[in-house]
This record gives sequence, structure tokens and C-alpha cells, in this order.
Amino acid sequence: MMENKKKKPFRFMEKMIIVVIITVLVGGAVMSIVAYVNPDAKNRCACNRQVLLEELQRERGVNSNINMSEVIHRMQYEVVCPSSGIYTEIAVTLGSGFIGGAVCSVHGGYDIIPE
Ligand SMILES: [Zn+2]
Repeated sequence: MMENKKKKPFRFMEKMIIVVIITVLVGGAVMSIVAYVNPDAKNRCACNRQVLLEELQRERGVNSNINMSEVIHRMQYEVVCPSSGIYTEIAVTLGSGFIGGAVCSVHGGYDIIPE
């Protein structure tokens, strides 16, 4: 009798853990299905990153010190990933050339702007 009473909270916790695991798995599966069914979102996101690149190139003509982070911040309400991804700057220096661009947290994308 005493052992049964002691075990009960553990059973509840076990159930809750299973519910959480199932929720995470189903959530991940739904996200994958949405991404698979809607490749259009991926394409629109690629177009958005291209817009950010073009804006950066345009801004560079006025201010050579501007970086992609500033462009992303300035255009955060106009250029939005259709899958709610977050855009961040990706910048790599290869030799004497600068390569940079915007990367999406959902779609990735390594768009480059050689300079
Ligand atoms: Zn995206």
C-alpha cells in the first residue's frame, strides 16, 4: 500500500515525459512536412536573401562601412522569412576578398557577395 502511493508521482512524471517527447516528435514531423509540402517558402526565402544582398550592395555605394547586420536590422519588417526564420549575417574573408551574405535559421543559404 505504501509503495503504491510512493510510485504514483513517478508514473505521472513518466506520462508527462512521454507526452513531452511525443509533442516534440510530432512538432518536428509537422515542421518537416510543411517544409516538404511548401518548397515555395524556401524559394521566397532565397529571394529575400537576394534582396538583402542587393540592398547591401546598393548601400555600399553610399557607405562602404555598412555591413549585412545593419541591412538585416533595417529591413526586418519588409524582408521576412515565410517560415519565420531569422536572418543573420554570414561573413568570411577569403584571401584579399570579402565574402558575406545573409543566412536563414530555417532555410540556411550561403549567399555570397564577392568584393
Ligand atoms: Zn528562411
